[in-house]
Amino acid sequence: MKPSLRSIPAVEKLLQELGSVDLPRAAIVAVVRRELDALRSGKNIPDFDGVISQIRTALDDMRRTRIQPLLNGTGIIVHTNLGRAPLGTAVMETLHKIGANYNNLEYDIAAGKRGVRAGYLEHNLALLCEAEAATVVNNNAAALILILRHFCVAPRSEVVISRGELVQIGGEFRIPEILEVSGARLREIGTTNKTSISDYERAINRQTALILKVHRSNFFMDGFVEEPSIEEISRLAQKKKVPFVEDLGSGAILNTEDFIPPDHEPTPAEVVRRGVELVCFSGDKLLGGPQAGIIAGERRWIVALKKDPFFRALRCDKLILSALQTTVDSYLRGSEIRPEVPILAMLRYSNDDLRVRADRLAGGLVGLPLKISVGTGKAQVGGGTLPRAVIPSVTLDLAPEGLALPELAKRLREGIPPVIGYTSGNQLKIDLRTIFPCQDEELMLAIRAAMS
Ligand SMILES: *Cc1c(COP(=O)(O)O)cnc(C)c1O
Repeated sequence: MKPSLRSIPAVEKLLQELGSVDLPRAAIVAVVRRELDALRSGKNIPDFDGVISQIRTALDDMRRTRIQPLLNGTGIIVHTNLGRAPLGTAVMETLHKIGANYNNLEYDIAAGKRGVRAGYLEHNLALLCEAEAATVVNNNAAALILILRHFCVAPRSEVVISRGELVQIGGEFRIPEILEVSGARLREIGTTNKTSISDYERAINRQTALILKVHRSNFFMDGFVEEPSIEEISRLAQKKKVPFVEDLGSGAILNTEDFIPPDHEPTPAEVVRRGVELVCFSGDKLLGGPQAGIIAGERRWIVALKKDPFFRALRCDKLILSALQTTVDSYLRGSEIRPEVPILAMLRYSNDDLRVRADRLAGGLVGLPLKISVGTGKAQVGGGTLPRAVIPSVTLDLAPEGLALPELAKRLREGIPPVIGYTSGNQLKIDLRTIFPCQDEELMLAIRAAMS
């Protein structure tokens, strides 16, 4: 018999009724207790079924917060909220092999004793960036903080930076705040739209620690704008003997204008060639690898950074290092099409191919209370890179009958796997460029499930 109305059921009784839930038991018990506490402090205690249903909702909510795969129908290729760059099969094989075994992370096989960490990776990263040396930390924010902390030591703690580059990237990464937490003093020069080489020259004094350039990766300025070239700043930096650092943000290795016209994203090799002494960029943006912060440039600076005690706190583990190693090697192998870097493959899908997939999906979904059409979309690189680049794409457009559009979107999000699309007018659009062809079947099932 079910317990009577208005009494608080016992935890054990509730657990029994819930049956098997795909969560650790301790987590389930904690949720049950929390919900019961909430009931106790409230006025209206629902009946047993009501309590159970409230707990089930709480458990579902909790399960949805677990990191899990999903289908990205947003058309945003490097989506920071959706985990940035997915990793290819070569990288996943590496992760499996390295993660499941002992390895020579810091062991010199030839000498039979302790060796250097990531020596091979650093060697090849330097090649990729056409730099003397390179190293890796946890992310680009960490790379920048390491550089700033290392070079900004009183009385030389001023960082010279253009007002046009005091930018915010993503949710909470603001250049002035990063400088502050790194013990650097901001020496802002020029104006938002115009900074000249003489602004730089006038700002450099005995307190100057370094010149920082920050790539405006997530917006663009046009019109009455001016900034000195990297070559000009580099000449000045050499004359004044201050390091010249650029935060490049995304770190495209290939010429982006070849496949995402019109914009050219500066490559690390290019800025190093032009005179930047240290460049840092993300591993999981346009490079298409795991989360990492890559620093490349003059050997003396890389050596010094690696000796900094703070470097130890930012170093990557075997999984990241080996995943990045495989990614970098796939670039160095240098085939024209690089299917092992999934985001590059996505950028190259032809719209004809996407349309074939969309037609097939639409054909597989007939009979649902849903108007389905094949539409066009505008995919983006995302992740705060190439803000101007719009990649023509193909979408599956859904207009449900007898169901509100937000409700369909919610059901798709809450399905397994979740499908994330976007609404435009009275349609829910799913951009196929960011969905792998091997996920089409899953997508079809997810839409069916949402409509049933
Ligand atoms: C993305 C970005 C960062 C932050 O990089 P993370 O790898 O996310 O830490 C810093 N600077 C610029 C210019 C960026 O675009």
